Amino acid sequence: MRKGTFYQSSAWRKLSKAFLCSKHYICERCGNPAEIAHHKTHLNAANIMNPDISLNPKLLEALCKNCHNTEHFGAGGAVLEGLAFDDDGNLTEVTHELHPTIQRPVAEGGNPCL
Ligand SMILES: [Zn+2]
Ligand SMILES: [Zn+2]
Repeated sequence: MRKGTFYQSSAWRKLSKAFLCSKHYICERCGNPAEIAHHKTHLNAANIMNPDISLNPKLLEALCKNCHNTEHFGAGGAVLEGLAFDDDGNLTEVTHELHPTIQRPVAEGGNPCL
């Protein structure tokens, strides 16, 4: 399964929304609004099919876009959105950036997590 497919799965969308909700859509690093449920254990072909890793809320972190970019690219590491240099200095596509961003639902007096 490609990562794009994983991030489009209903299991992931449900989990990531519930996770961000449990963090009140607040970035765990800077306190800005969080839009991304980031995998602390970066996903790869070997672990993406393992729900203990790919669908484990304990391994997720609520991040805003800025902190998420810093996490993956460091300061100034990203050349273009979705592109970065790999360890060998080759331009490579950053498939992890297929993380969909999640907008906080507008609460109409109720609990937005429901
Ligand atoms: Zn942040
Ligand atoms: Zn990430």
